[in-house]
Amino acid sequence: MIYLNGKFLPIEQAYIPVLDRGFIFGDGVYEVIPVYSRKPFRLSEHLIRLQHSLDGIRLDNPHSEAHWSQLIAHIIAHNEGEDQYLYLHITRGVAKRDHAFPLGVPPTVFIMSTPLPPPPQALLASGVPAITAQDNRWGRCDIKAISLLPNVLLRQLAIDARTMETILLRDGLLTEGAASNIFIVKDEVLLAPPKDHRMLPGITYDVVLELAETHAIPHAVREISEAELRSAQEIMLTSSTKEILAITRLDGEPVGNAKPGPVFQQLNQHYQAYKATMMRG
Ligand code: PMP
Repeated sequence: MIYLNGKFLPIEQAYIPVLDRGFIFGDGVYEVIPVYSRKPFRLSEHLIRLQHSLDGIRLDNPHSEAHWSQLIAHIIAHNEGEDQYLYLHITRGVAKRDHAFPLGVPPTVFIMSTPLPPPPQALLASGVPAITAQDNRWGRCDIKAISLLPNVLLRQLAIDARTMETILLRDGLLTEGAASNIFIVKDEVLLAPPKDHRMLPGITYDVVLELAETHAIPHAVREISEAELRSAQEIMLTSSTKEILAITRLDGEPVGNAKPGPVFQQLNQHYQAYKATMMRG
């Protein structure tokens, strides 16, 4: 069952008019929220980021946090799977095609849920390959915009190269992955690029930095050069649906000894333990 504009429906019965600005202009924002044991993970952080994205495109939030929580609880209860991921999508609504914001038009609000399988053990054990590409996206990558054409094209480069992710470089600096945030380990220190307009402020990124702080894993947030990326002891990606994965080959070259490294192992253990406590709480 999905939610669309005030109604709960089977997905087969959910339709959007062709003049929806999401369809015409990609004029909208979205969120992806993991659900473990039927509890949304880091819900308020996701709703805060949603507000940031809505503010970024000057669209009023159609619901209060309490109302979002109710809608989400209903969707979780009426979908398969203890673990799911929610997709929330808000567009500037349906109006005659004109770039200018329409007046007095209600937004389109859509929520769906998909079963969330655990990250495959084989990938956790072996790590995954990635490639690099120039970051050719726009200047507001902090907004989780539904207009994802650059991300789609960049991610397809990874698929074509039979790898898991495309790591993006802008002006010689690491930004993030096409659909993930990227960390490296250099001189035994976990390094993360700073949150700014060049990357999405990942919810998993924040969790990883909190875990590093709590468990006294040396870490720093600072700009990371392409040379540092290419000579890193470890590279890892984070996202709500992939959690943490070690990247063990970059552009065909081994990262460190081409096996998931000790910092990845520690962080992943802490992440799994943290998830378990959140689900009990
Ligand atoms: N950056 C981009 C471009 C993404 O699409 C995503 C989410 N798939 C992330 C980072 C990771 O964010 P989160 O940890 O909130 O899923």
